[in-house]
Amino acid sequence: MVKMKNRSIKRANPFMLLFWILLFFTLLSINLNAHAARLAIVIDDIGYRVNEETKILQMPAAVSIAILPDSPHGRKMAEKAHQQGREILIHLPMAPLSEQPLEKNTLLPTMSREEIERIIQHAIQRVPHAVGMNNHMGSAMTSNLAGMEKVMQVLSHHHLYFLDSVTIGNTQATKAAIGTSVPVIRRNVFLDNIQTEAETRHQLNRAIVLARKQGFAIAIGHPHPTTIRALQQTLATLPNDVELVTPGMLLAPVPTSKNDKQSANKNDKQTALECIKLQGAKPAPITQLDYLKMAAKALTNNAIVNTLNQQIQNILGKLSGQAEPDSRPENAKTGATKKTGACSGF
Ligand SMILES: [Zn+2]
Repeated sequence: MVKMKNRSIKRANPFMLLFWILLFFTLLSINLNAHAARLAIVIDDIGYRVNEETKILQMPAAVSIAILPDSPHGRKMAEKAHQQGREILIHLPMAPLSEQPLEKNTLLPTMSREEIERIIQHAIQRVPHAVGMNNHMGSAMTSNLAGMEKVMQVLSHHHLYFLDSVTIGNTQATKAAIGTSVPVIRRNVFLDNIQTEAETRHQLNRAIVLARKQGFAIAIGHPHPTTIRALQQTLATLPNDVELVTPGMLLAPVPTSKNDKQSANKNDKQTALECIKLQGAKPAPITQLDYLKMAAKALTNNAIVNTLNQQIQNILGKLSGQAEPDSRPENAKTGATKKTGACSGF
């Protein structure tokens, strides 16, 4: 019986058999890539707690930080984070609905455009290297369309994106940005409304589930000890299909009703958009050899098929008669590192 099986395998065209196996893995890999889950994590309220925030800066560089402009350590943290290639946001205080102590230079809906301009310019000076802004508190401000329109008009002159923390359901941030060049993205999950490790791990898992479902998710946390411990644990065991990204890397081109000012000026956000396009680009397979090459590239980082990949390389070498440097696992890793660095540095 075993001998019969062996004979039938020998009779089958081994090249065609291998081709169909490779095609199966290629399609499987493309399918997995298409569902890659991109997760952005932002830690708010940076600038007050050096000990905790130092631990944040020891996390992967894709974990971004939002700095309170008038905090005592904000500028120092911005410089350190920038040296790491970490994305920085201005965490701009905005008026809440409830009565509570306000940060200095908190935006109020009643402020004039000039006053808002002054506060934002001050914040930009206090938080160097910022590429985006999100709101600290701010339910009264972000639910006020006229107030947020002034904010967006000012931001459009400073090439900053806006991450809406969504502290209130009827936030007007997205609506206020229409007609401006300001890209707006929204927070999906708060990690630590309840400050326990278990709760933050639960919220991180929620974010991962959402990222798998819609392709991306944005989670916001704070430098609480419980949040830090939960993040350290979860990030150390992040599933392979989840890619940690910065919020800026999730930006999509914003259709504006007026001229697209971004296309006129080469700026940081465009670099981010270019990175997204590069990451999303997939070569179209043309020939059987192209299929084999794609399979080799797609499988290089998959431990399960590393052995198979080695066989692919051997066959490709025979077929093409030349080396395929980009498909070597070690080179692929180096290239991916470079690409990440280039995108995360904007
Ligand atoms: Zn805050």
